[in-house]
This record gives sequence, C-alpha cells and structure tokens, in this order.
Amino acid sequence: MSKFESYNIDLKQLDAGTHLFEYELDNEYFKKIDSPEVQKGKLNAQVKITVLQGFFNVLFVVRGAVFVPCDRCLDEMELPIVAEDTLQVKFGADYGEEGDVMLIPENDGKLNVAWFLYEMIALAIPIKHVHAPGMCNKAMATKLRKHLAHMADDEDEGWGIEDEGMANEKRTTDPRWEGLLQILNDENQY
Ligand SMILES: [Zn+2]
Repeated sequence: MSKFESYNIDLKQLDAGTHLFEYELDNEYFKKIDSPEVQKGKLNAQVKITVLQGFFNVLFVVRGAVFVPCDRCLDEMELPIVAEDTLQVKFGADYGEEGDVMLIPENDGKLNVAWFLYEMIALAIPIKHVHAPGMCNKAMATKLRKHLAHMADDEDEGWGIEDEGMANEKRTTDPRWEGLLQILNDENQY
C-alpha cells in the first residue's frame, strides 16, 4: 500500500452528482511528501468532485497555515494559507493531458490528490515571508547581519574556486543561509 493511498479518489465509484472529500494536512503529511519548501503545517483541504457527462470537475480548497523559517531571523513563523484551484479530469488510454484536461487511464480510474494539494500550498507561499515588524528574533537577526557582513568581506578578499579549503567551507553552509544571502543580494540590487 502506497503511503499516499488515502489520497486516492476512485472516480469510477462516483455516482452522478457532487461528492466532497476532506483531508487534514498535518506535519505527518508534509513528512510523507518530503519536499524542502514546506515541512510543517496544519491545513484543511476540501476536494469537491462533480461528475459530468464524460468528465469530472474537481474543485480544491485549502485553508490553514504552514510553518516556515522567517527570511529575516530564521525562526519559525506561521503563514496563513488560503488557496483554491480547479482541475478537469477525463478517462483516457493512458496518463496525460489534453489541453487543460488531465487524463487518467480508465482501468486505473483513481485520482491521487496528495501532490496536487502540496503544489497548491507551495505556490501560495509568497517568495519573501518575514515576521510582523518587531516579532523577529532580534539576537538571531543581528547575528545574521554580522554573518552576512563577514561573508561580504571574505568575497572582497577575492578567493578563487581553486582554494579547496574555502570552497569546502562554502559548501557546508546551511542551505537556509544560502537562501537568505540570495534574497539579501537581490534586495541590494535595487
Ligand atoms: Zn523573523
């Protein structure tokens, strides 16, 4: 049994009309998805499927919050999420797409919504997200600023990629710092 079995909706079992499926997306769900953008959250997802002549109309509504590191201080912050999306599904010979319509082989007949819901949530997160003014971890934010100033100094000294030691040190940098550096560098360009 796949770890996403409970997110399978068997379209062949649906009678004419509208059917509602609900999922609670918690830390366990994000652990199973195992993707870097979001690792913690607490959301409710509603999947409403209307069976129409020859196809299925699917409406996804996700509400709740994810917990992600703040760009300014790296402390966890709660980010409210409200997202809505629709999908049209038809049975076909194989998995695929036909314009905006998703094709699912009729002999399978199941729509798995686990990844679809995750993508909706990940897309709903703004590129830059920081605590409300005054809510950041001040000590950490100060440390980060110093670290970044230090990094900038190192770059001014101009070490080459041939320098094994420095190159290795750079590679072991926490990826979150890298992301933050990228954001700050982007900002400095304006
Ligand atoms: Zn913060």
